[in-house]
Amino acid sequence: MATKVIKTVTCDPCDKKGEERDAVGKLEIFGDEYDVCEEHGTKFRAWFAEALGSSQLAAKSA
Ligand SMILES: [Zn+2]
Repeated sequence: MATKVIKTVTCDPCDKKGEERDAVGKLEIFGDEYDVCEEHGTKFRAWFAEALGSSQLAAKSA
C-alpha cells in the first residue's frame, strides 16, 4: 500500500498565536511568503491597502 502524504497548509499568524487553522491564501512580499487563513488574509489585505495608499482596494474589502 502506498503511503499517503496529506499536506496541510496552516495559517502563519494563527500558528504564531498557538492556533491551528487551514490557510486559504498567501501573502508574498519581496520573496517572503506567508500562508494565511481567510480572516488574516482579509485583515492583512485591508492593512496593506491602507498602508500602501490603495484606497480602491481598501474600499472593496470594507
Ligand atoms: Zn489566521
